[in-house]
Formats: sequence, structure tokens, C-alpha cells
Amino acid sequence: MTVPDPAPSTTLASLTTLRLGGPAAELVEAHDEASLIEAVSSADAAGIPVLVVGGGSNLVVADEGYPGRVVVVRNGGLDDEADTCGGAFVEVAAGESWDDVVATAVERGWVGIEALSGIPGTAGATPIQNVGAYGQEVSQTVARVRTWDRKLRGIRTWAAGDCGFGYRTSRFKRDPERFVVLSTTFQFGLGDLGAPVQYAELASALGIATGERAPARDVREAVLALRRSKAMVLDPDDHDTWSTGSFFTNPVVPADQVPEGAPAWPQPDGLVKTSAAWLIEQAGFTKGYGNERVRLSSRHSLAVTNRGGATTEEVLDLARELQSGVQERFGITLVNEPVLVGCQL
Ligand SMILES: Cc1cc2nc3c(=O)[nH]c(=O)nc-3n(C[C@H](O)[C@H](O)[C@H](O)COP(=O)(O)OP(=O)(O)OC[C@H]3O[C@@H](n4cnc5c(N)ncnc54)[C@H](O)[C@@H]3O)c2cc1C
Repeated sequence: MTVPDPAPSTTLASLTTLRLGGPAAELVEAHDEASLIEAVSSADAAGIPVLVVGGGSNLVVADEGYPGRVVVVRNGGLDDEADTCGGAFVEVAAGESWDDVVATAVERGWVGIEALSGIPGTAGATPIQNVGAYGQEVSQTVARVRTWDRKLRGIRTWAAGDCGFGYRTSRFKRDPERFVVLSTTFQFGLGDLGAPVQYAELASALGIATGERAPARDVREAVLALRRSKAMVLDPDDHDTWSTGSFFTNPVVPADQVPEGAPAWPQPDGLVKTSAAWLIEQAGFTKGYGNERVRLSSRHSLAVTNRGGATTEEVLDLARELQSGVQERFGITLVNEPVLVGCQL
């Protein structure tokens, strides 16, 4: 198996939703699993650094670019392994568009990811940071993850319980140079009603109480409408969506560190999750804060946006300003959610 021809564009800016990032030394698009493994393992054997890219929606890449092989994951396929009264086991190739997977699930009555509608990127990236929104996380429906282990040079399949899932993290994210996700198998319930809605804003949009169910189609539509109102659905004409979504995760801190009046979501380990958006706003950075090149989205105070013509360094400068403002005001250190490549806060 030979590595596929390099794709025409070698600029990371063309592969990321921030539309930022300099040139890649090499760029390979892998359209099937064998070429994905070959592209990564041949680079590993030659000592060439590898950056795996899906939809580029959680990546901040340095203006200098990437001095190695960028491997773009484009393997497709969705295999409905079993569709019985026990539920549906569905194996999804890493390069599938995540939102297409959600749309298919809703259409076919596979329950459990409808609240994850509208999240950009590929299916294979969803276990990396245990993607979540509106009260659902992929870890609730992932049955197993098939990976290429770059260290052991072989295919390894991880049962959900071994994936180390946590809030926006997993064993794959904690060990970033090691695993390439080839496919993920989900186990869905079957039916027309979505899973119980756990997020108050979504329940209210659906006119139900938190914990009640609604038709999965309605849940998807309500989530998409909420996300659009916050510029959290990609739209090339809308600069408020030229972002990585939330730039910071919600801090999880001891209860006595949660500022007075801040949202507080108690966690099973006794710590409390609070809202990064609230902290940023209360530290004086309102929606739209910034300049004509880089600023907070006018509809979401957690999204750092490129207004066109920005540089990665300018994005990082604004993120640093937010981080130190929150640190000074509340003594809480915000942690970036997107993966930083060749750069740091
Ligand atoms: C407008 C907007 C809204 C968003 N909303 C949400 C949200 O509600 N919830 C949420 O959790 N996230 C959200 N995100 C972040 C992002 O969409 C998700 O993290 C998504 O899963 C990233 O997928 P991707 O294919 O774009 O990954 P990329 O950005 O291409 O990659 C992200 C990381 O995963 C690695 N990676 C990608 N594919 C693979 C693979 N097959 N194997 C191994 N490593 C891989 C990359 O190397 C990189 O480290 C949002 C982003 C944007 C721009």
C-alpha cells in the first residue's frame, strides 16, 4: 500500500474552522483505513512528526505551520452491526461527518446522540475529548473505539470502560501522540423519543421538564436552533463561527473557590464545575470584546473568533488576556479546550 498523493492545499488554514495555521511540510488525505494506517506508520518509521486532522474544528495551529506530515482523516462508512430490540450497534468510520451521523441516528430511531446535533468535525474525533453538549456526552453511547497504536504498531480496540472518559478528555487525549482512531462503535437505544433531556435550557425550549423525553427529531431541531442563535453551527458567511467553539473548558474547582453568584454544578468527586463564560464576562470581557481582527463572538463569550486576516498569535493574545483577567479577578486558571499545535498560551 502506498501513501496517497498529497492533497493540493498544504496550508493548515484551509483545514481548520478558525481558518488559521501556516503550511504543512507534507499533507496526505487518507480515504480508507489502510491508507490512514500507512500514512501514519510510514511517517513514524521515518521519524517524521505526524499531525492527525479531522474537521480541524478543535485545532489552533501556529502561524509557522507544521514541520511534519499532516494526515487528514477521510475514511468513510457506517456499519449497522445489529439492530434488534436490545439496541443498535453501529460502527462509524473515523472520517465520517459527526453531524451526518447524528442526522442518520435520528432518522433511523437510534437514541442517545440527538443533543449532540450541530457539533462540527468528524466522528473519529468525538471520543478524543469526549464531545458533549446540552446534557449528553459521546461516552454515554460509545461501546468501543478501534485505534491504531503508534507505539505498539498494531490495531487495538478499547471497550468504553477502558477509554478513560472524563469531562472533555479521554485516554486518547491524554496520550496525544499514540492513538489514531480508526472507527467508533456506538450502542444506541431504539425508539422515536430521545434520551431524557438533562439540560434545563434545552428542556425549556422543548416545553418539557428536565429529565423528561421528547421526540428525537424535535430535540435535534431545538438543539440546532439554540446552537445557531449562539453561532455554534458552522456558517462560512458568519465570522462569529470562525472559531474552535468554546476556547476554554468549564473549570472544576473545590466548592469554596466558586465565586458568589456563579453557576455551580456539583460533580461526583465532590468538586464543583463552574461556567467559564460567566467568569469571562464577570472579569469584564463582554461578547464582542476585542478588535476588528480577533474578538469574542458577538453571540458567545467563550468563542474566540477570527474576523478574517487574523493570525494565530493574535488569537492566542486575546485568549491570554482572557485567561489572565479571570486569574486576577477570581484566582481560577482557565484551561484551553482546543488542541494547540506548535504554539501555547
Ligand atoms: C462552532 C463550533 C462549535 C463546537 N461545539 C462543540 C460542542 O458543543 N461540544 C464539544 O465537545 N466540542 C465542540 N466543538 C469542538 C469540536 O467541534 C469537537 O471537539 C470535534 O469533535 C472536533 O472534531 P474534528 O474532527 O474537527 O477534530 P480536529 O479539530 O481535526 O482534531 C482535534 C484533535 O483530535 C485529534 N484527532 C482528530 N481525529 C482523530 C483521529 N481519527 N484519531 C486520533 N486523533 C484524532 C487531532 O489530532 C486533534 O488533536 C465545537 C467547535 C466549533 C468550531
